[in-house]
Amino acid sequence: MPTDSKSIHMIKRLVGFDTTSRNSNLELMEFVGGYLKDLGVESELVHNEEGTKANLYATLGPTDRPGIALSGHTDVVPVDGQDWHTDPFQVVENHGRLYGRGTCDMKSFIGVCLALAPEFLARDIVTPLHFAFSHDEEIGCVGVRSLIDTLAGRPIKPSAVIIGEPTEMKVVRAHKGKLSYRCHVRGFEAHSSLSHIGVNAVEAAAEAVAYLKIMARRHRDQGPFDPELVPPYTTVHTGTIHGGTALNIVPRDCHFEFEFRHLPDDDPDVLLGELRRHIAEHIEPEMHAAQPATGFDFEPLSHIPGLSTDEDADIVQLAKALTGQNSTAKVSFGTEAGLFHDGGMPAVVCGPGSIDQAHKPDEFIAREQISQCEAFLRKLFERCWQGTI
Ligand SMILES: [Zn+2]
Repeated sequence: MPTDSKSIHMIKRLVGFDTTSRNSNLELMEFVGGYLKDLGVESELVHNEEGTKANLYATLGPTDRPGIALSGHTDVVPVDGQDWHTDPFQVVENHGRLYGRGTCDMKSFIGVCLALAPEFLARDIVTPLHFAFSHDEEIGCVGVRSLIDTLAGRPIKPSAVIIGEPTEMKVVRAHKGKLSYRCHVRGFEAHSSLSHIGVNAVEAAAEAVAYLKIMARRHRDQGPFDPELVPPYTTVHTGTIHGGTALNIVPRDCHFEFEFRHLPDDDPDVLLGELRRHIAEHIEPEMHAAQPATGFDFEPLSHIPGLSTDEDADIVQLAKALTGQNSTAKVSFGTEAGLFHDGGMPAVVCGPGSIDQAHKPDEFIAREQISQCEAFLRKLFERCWQGTI
C-alpha cells in the first residue's frame, strides 16, 4: 500500500519545528490548532505554569460521548553532540526512509493522525476520536499530567487511549514504570587530618549506592520475573554522583541520582522505602553520632507509572483487531500510557517506527511503517463511522 503523500507532507511540517524539550512547543501547537480550525475542529490548549508550552486536546465528531483518544508527545530529545548526516529538522528521504529528529519518536504518528483527519471528518461520525498531544514527555512525562487531570475531572472523557509511541504497530499492553530520585548527603566539613570530627558525605553516599547495587543484584537473581520484558526484572541504577572539593577536606556534600525501572506490578515506593530504611538504620546513626545535623535528603525527579492493561480489556481487543494481530507485547521503555490508565482511561501503546531508531542520530522512519499506521487509522475510522466501538 503506497504511503499517502498528505501524511509525508504533514510529518515534514511537524519535524520542521524544533520542539526539543527545552524549547517552547507553542509554534507547533498553533500550527496544529490552525490546521484543525480550518477543518472546523475546535481545539483547546492546556498550558504549563509558565505559559511557555501546551498540550492540545481536540474532539473530532460528537462531543456528548466518550470515544477513543489518539495520543502523542510533540517534544523531541536533543540532537546536541550527535553525529547527524542531514539537517535533523528537515526531513530527508532516502531508500524508503524519512530521516529527521522525531520522525520515529513520535511526530509521524501525530502527522498521520492530522493528515487523515479530513478523511475522517468527511463522513457521519458516531463515535468520536480525540487528539491528545502533549509537551515535555521526554523529560519524564511531565506535560501530559495536567491534560489528564483536566480530562479526568470531566463527566465525558475518552473511554480509552491509543499512544502512538514507536512499537512497529505492535500492540503493547504493558511496560515498566520508572521512579527516580536525587539524593543530597549532608556531611560535615573538616580538615582531613581531623576526620574524626567530620562526617564524610562521599563515603556515606558510597554506602547508599553500594546498597542500591545489592538491591539490583537481588532483583536480577531472585526476581520477580516477567519473561516478556527485557530484562525480565526490576532494575536499579545509579546514574550520577558528585561530591567533595579537595583531597585534604572531609567532604560536606555529595549528590547522587538513581532510578528504579520496575515491573508494572512491583511497587517502587516499597523499593525506595527499603533504601531509606537501610540508610536510617545503618548509615545515618554513625553520621549523627559525630554531627547531629548531617543526613540524607531525597528529592523526587520523576515517576512514570508502569502499564499493565489486561489482555481482555476492550482497548486491547480493539487494537488487536485493527492491526490484525493475535498477540500483544510488553516493552521496557516508559510512556504516558500508565498515567492515562491511572486517570481512568485504559491505554495501549501502538505506533509506527521502531524504538531502535528513537533518540539516535539519523533517526528515521520507514515509509512502510507510515502506511501501516494509515491502514490502522482507516480501520479505526470505519468503526467510529459505524459506531461499533
Ligand atoms: Zn516518545
